[in-house]
Amino acid sequence: MPAGEFELIQRYLRGLGASRDDVLLGVGDDCALVAPPPGLELALAADTIVEGVHFPKGLRAADVGHRVLAVNLSDLAAMGADPAWALLTLTLPAPDEAWLEGFAAGFGALALRHGTALVGGDTTSGPLTATVAIAGFVAPATALRRSGARAGDTVWVSGLPGEAAAGLAVLQGRIGGPAGARERLVARFLRPEPRVGLGRALRGAATACIDVSDGLAADLGKLCAASGVGAALEGARLPVSADLADCAGDGPALRFLLAGGDDYELVFTLPPGTEPPDFAGAPLARIGVVVAAPGVTLDGAPLPRDVAHGFDHFA
Ligand code: ADP
Ligand code: MG
Repeated sequence: MPAGEFELIQRYLRGLGASRDDVLLGVGDDCALVAPPPGLELALAADTIVEGVHFPKGLRAADVGHRVLAVNLSDLAAMGADPAWALLTLTLPAPDEAWLEGFAAGFGALALRHGTALVGGDTTSGPLTATVAIAGFVAPATALRRSGARAGDTVWVSGLPGEAAAGLAVLQGRIGGPAGARERLVARFLRPEPRVGLGRALRGAATACIDVSDGLAADLGKLCAASGVGAALEGARLPVSADLADCAGDGPALRFLLAGGDDYELVFTLPPGTEPPDFAGAPLARIGVVVAAPGVTLDGAPLPRDVAHGFDHFA
C-alpha cells in the first residue's frame, strides 16, 4: 500500500479500542501476538459489510465503523463469549483521512465499551468494504449453541425486533411517521447494540441461542433446524414497538418484526419453567414455545415463505 495510507493506519487504527494485557504485540508487525488465557475456549467469527449491500451508500464513516464491529460482537454475544481481539480488513475507494478518522471513532468507541482490542488487519483499495475477524473467550463447554433447544422449552427474544429494518425503510423514504419515532427507528438501524451482556448472562441458562441478522423468523428457523425441532409463536406475545407501529401501521409492523433484518437482538430458548436471567439492557419477551414438529408457526399457521426465509444474499 502507498506510504500515505500506511501512515493513516498508524495514526487512526493503531491502538484502537481497549488496551489489554493479553496483547503482546498489536498493529505494526507482520502478525499480532496474543496470549490466550489457559483453560478457556476461543470463540472465533468473521463478518463482512459491503457498501450498497449491507449498508446504504453514503452512510457516515462512524456508523460504518460501529456496524462492522457490532455485527461481529453480536456473533460472540450469541455464543455467550467474552470479546477480546479483533482484526480489521478495510477496502477503501481512496485513502480519505476524514473518512478513516470517522470510521475509527465509531469502531473505537464500541470496541472500548466491550473491552475489545484492534490488533491488526489489512488495507487495500477497491469498493468500500469492511471485514472484521473477532476472537472471544468462553469457559469449556459453556458456549451457547444453536443446537440445544428441546420440545417444551420456551422461546424468547430481546429488544424490539423490526425497528432496525423500519429505520432503514425510513432512511430510504419507504415509510413515514411522526418525527420522533422516525428518528428513534433510524438510530436503531445506524447503531445496533450487540447484546454481549445478555449472551454472557445466558450461559448456563439458555438451551440454544442465535442473533437476529436476517430476520427473527428466519433466524429462529435456523436455531430450530440445528436443534431438530420447531417453534410455535404466539402473536399476542410478540413485542411490537410503538414507534414501529406508528410509522409502519399495525399489519406491516408485524412483518417488520418477523422478517426485518439488522436488529442484532438475541433469540434464545429456556428449559420449561425457568425464567431468564436479570438483564437491564433491553426488555426480554417470551414469544412462544419449542415444539417437536419442524418449522416456525404463528398462532398455529405456517409463516408466509418470504417471512420465514428472511434475507438471503443469493436468493
Ligand atoms: P503486511 O504487508 O506485512 O501484511 P501491512 O502493511 O498490510 O503488512 O500492515 C502493516 C501493519 O498494519 C500490520 O501490523 C497490520 O496488521 C496493520 N494493519 C493494516 N491494515 C490494518 C487495518 N485496517 N486495521 C488494523 N491494522 C491494520
Ligand atoms: Mg497486509
